Amino acid sequence: MRRFSFKRLASAGLFFAFACAAPAAAEPLAKDLFGAQRLPAATEPASYGFYSKGCFGGGMAIATDGPHWQAMRLSRNRRWGHPDMIRLLERFSREAAADGWPGLLVGDISQPRGGPMLSGHASHQIGLDADIWFTPMPDRRLSAEEREKVSAVSMIKEGSLYVDERRWTPAHEAVLRRAASYPQVERVLVHPGIKKKLCETVRGDRSWLRKVRPFWGHDYHFHIRISCPKGSPGCKGQEPAPRSEGCDKSLAWWFTEEPWRPATGPEKPKARDIMPLSALPAACRVVLNAPAPVSEAAVTLTGSGTAPVQAAAAPSLDQDADPASLLLSLQPAEIPLPSPRPYR
Ligand SMILES: [Zn+2]
Repeated sequence: MRRFSFKRLASAGLFFAFACAAPAAAEPLAKDLFGAQRLPAATEPASYGFYSKGCFGGGMAIATDGPHWQAMRLSRNRRWGHPDMIRLLERFSREAAADGWPGLLVGDISQPRGGPMLSGHASHQIGLDADIWFTPMPDRRLSAEEREKVSAVSMIKEGSLYVDERRWTPAHEAVLRRAASYPQVERVLVHPGIKKKLCETVRGDRSWLRKVRPFWGHDYHFHIRISCPKGSPGCKGQEPAPRSEGCDKSLAWWFTEEPWRPATGPEKPKARDIMPLSALPAACRVVLNAPAPVSEAAVTLTGSGTAPVQAAAAPSLDQDADPASLLLSLQPAEIPLPSPRPYR
């Protein structure tokens, strides 16, 4: 955690500037407001703003368990997304299974109403980003505790920028190919070493490689980003991925020292640690104040009749509970906030 050093600021002669900035700093932080939400906004589904600065209404959750997926880190309550994303994940899990992938371990999607998070990602704010583990789903149901503690396995050889050949399999290529196959998927983010591996080994149709983009992190999981959905005029799209395969100079850059050089100069605060609600699109205030659906179950996509695994730290949201008692169980003071933890 970063703390303000008053002494250092004053000695740097920045006291005056700091004092003038104080009133703005009193505004609530967007991450605290959005991080406290337990249920989505019961509105028409719509994403507002950009992947790293926005929110969404009409969110849907993916069930903790489906025929071809298990959701991880349930206590974080980040199984929420725009319904287009949640439906895509169900379809992806089914089609990946048909390809021979044992099933998806689903990592973070978004908070119930999106917005900046208390810990972890800068993006994932508008319900259109999802992390999928490179570890295939085991052939048994993980307990809630295991889902908190089991760690994902890096596909990169320790101390290198290259794929660990003992872990990489043709099935890993196939699951990425499947993820990139959907027209609404704009980008699949992976570690540069994984992109390099694909550049060297993919045979036949290589057109999908253009969507697979190298990025920091993403050795334990890959990240799927979909385009702005229909009915979201307030959603700001990203530049389309370049037309080329990306197996060129742009990839070679990742294997130089530059991208990995430690930052120099004073540490800058993370955007989420200073972003007030007013920095988000105005619609996000409406999203925050919108009523919640009657229950979590009412807005959860299941792929089977399996009963959900309850998150250890989350309040029990009984689907049969009457709305009044549900509201009581959602009084802000009683909402446990997810504890910050390093995220892979
Ligand atoms: Zn991600």
